[in-house]
Amino acid sequence: MPHNNDWRLTNQMSYLYGKKLVYLPYISYRAGWEHEHCEFCSEKIDVNSSNSYCTPDKYYWVCSTCFKDFNQMFKWVITMPEDEYDNNFISIDDFVDCINRGAEVEFLYENKNYSITHAGKKIAVAEYYNGESEKRYKNPIDALQYPIGEKCLGGILGDIKIIFRSL
Ligand SMILES: [Zn+2]
Repeated sequence: MPHNNDWRLTNQMSYLYGKKLVYLPYISYRAGWEHEHCEFCSEKIDVNSSNSYCTPDKYYWVCSTCFKDFNQMFKWVITMPEDEYDNNFISIDDFVDCINRGAEVEFLYENKNYSITHAGKKIAVAEYYNGESEKRYKNPIDALQYPIGEKCLGGILGDIKIIFRSL
């Protein structure tokens, strides 16, 4: 984790703390705009860059290196453009099959990010930035009991937004 005196830090806290970011290839913010610069390291981000992070309005951009370095400090919420939610689980069976095949999943629900990962033979479900929220289950069916607010994962499976799934 970088120090507060990291050279890349200026006043980003005032406009990027806790913001939603989307992860995608460079897209022009408006006609005639060909590139952006990372808000932290100023690296050029354009159509030749690998995927980067930006605010949903595509105004502020963060390169993937700086994202990794400052994610913890800035507590970003990763989301996706509304028209790209095509990864959702279509059924409980789809979820179980996906997890049983070893998939890692990240999802968004009510502005919080969660991850589903494999920890040894168990399935770990946790909210980002909240180590105490982690629970481990012996199979995907049990993992559907993971509590989220007043509900459980199984009850909101159709409403979560899958940000990433490895399978
Ligand atoms: Zn950067």
